[in-house]
Amino acid sequence: MTADHTADHTADAPGARTAVVTGAASPRGIGRATALLLASQGWNIGILDIDAVGGKALAEEIAANHNVTAYAVTADVSNEAQVRTAIDELEAALPPLAALANIAGVSSPVPYLELTSDEWHRVINTNLNGVHYVTRRVAESMVRHNYGRIVSISSTSAQRGGGTYSKTPYSVAKAGVIGLTRALARELGPFGITVNAIAPGPINTDIMGGPLTPETRADLIDTLLVNRVGETHDVASAIAYLLSNQSTYITGQTLNVDGGLYMH
Ligand code: NAD
Repeated sequence: MTADHTADHTADAPGARTAVVTGAASPRGIGRATALLLASQGWNIGILDIDAVGGKALAEEIAANHNVTAYAVTADVSNEAQVRTAIDELEAALPPLAALANIAGVSSPVPYLELTSDEWHRVINTNLNGVHYVTRRVAESMVRHNYGRIVSISSTSAQRGGGTYSKTPYSVAKAGVIGLTRALARELGPFGITVNAIAPGPINTDIMGGPLTPETRADLIDTLLVNRVGETHDVASAIAYLLSNQSTYITGQTLNVDGGLYMH
């Protein structure tokens, strides 16, 4: 089967497409910046987050400030049944699901020799299985329209074996996201779906245990080729590009948004 990757069959009328954004509820997070940028570009927004209050507040903010529809559902991405119910609800409430940004994730600074099995499974279940559960359900919808754009957040930790904040299970899960991305690019390409990953370096959010201290910021900058830590808009703009029709010839790739931290 072949599909025209350049044609967005669901975008014939303004506001006819929905982007699903997971992990958008965090007030200083990458997901929120991404949802707001996509809404400013005319995407309807489906928010999926474990934080019900934050997700609902963002949906209301988007609806009040952008001429699009926004709808929030609450689910733990590591729970496949919850994910499927939540995406069913988004699909019923919104125009066709044409894009997916897998952003929900957790950090884990626990050293390997102190790691419990529970911590290992928490991180793998959220950061890798969660991406699979959401992607699998949304892909079922995309295949029906023969069109889709999927971007999942990996990390330079996948490429460097940690080295910033989170440690082994985080690196393993984020490396798994890159493998999943490449495999799905092959399997879903025939259905008009592109699948890419983004590997951010250190970004100024609260995921490293709260706001960066001046000392932490200086230490991070020492490892970078640009004289600043990344901001959420750096990642959001890369996601928006990969979800747009400007990137139809790009699939199976991992784009490093990391100030030069990792070059390969
Ligand atoms: P954040 O903590 O600000 O946001 C994470 C979001 O994910 C929150 O809204 C949270 O409620 C949601 N979430 C967590 N567990 C969930 C679950 N089980 N089900 C549903 N939602 C859940 O973090 P952030 O810095 O914005 O990170 C976003 C993504 O970027 C993560 O995947 C993270 O691993 C990745 N990342 C961040 C950095 C960085 O330096 N900030 C670097 C590389 C990769």
